[in-house]
Amino acid sequence: MTNDCLFCRIVAGEIPATVVHETDETLAFRDIGPKAPVHVLVIPKVHHTDVSELAVADPGLAGKVLAACAAVAAGEGLGEGGFRVIFNSGPHSGQEVFHVHAHVLGGKPLGPMVS
Ligand code: IMP
Repeated sequence: MTNDCLFCRIVAGEIPATVVHETDETLAFRDIGPKAPVHVLVIPKVHHTDVSELAVADPGLAGKVLAACAAVAAGEGLGEGGFRVIFNSGPHSGQEVFHVHAHVLGGKPLGPMVS
């Protein structure tokens, strides 16, 4: 738990979130500013800064985050239309919250990946 981390505070229950999936080690909740009909953020409960740091520090947990993404997509009914998973990392990506999170997006044709 990092006191000044928004997503650590969501894990701790200090900030409300609409949780759609949870395991012992991961949490998935709806993005507050959705960019698609389905826009869910999937995080490890323990604090890691970004996907590069997580992958080195705990590759098993990185795999569990990906498994949670797939479970969220199935739970949201995205099996037929498909979905996109994005990890923003580093300045060019526009990462704003420095607790690693996967964006799971779907529910409509998403168009080109980079504009
Ligand atoms: P990033 O740009 O990849 O860091 O994405 C951060 C995401 O967190 C953005 O899509 C925001 O809309 C989302 N966000 C910020 N605050 C909250 C919140 O309190 N609950 C849910 N999503 C949030």
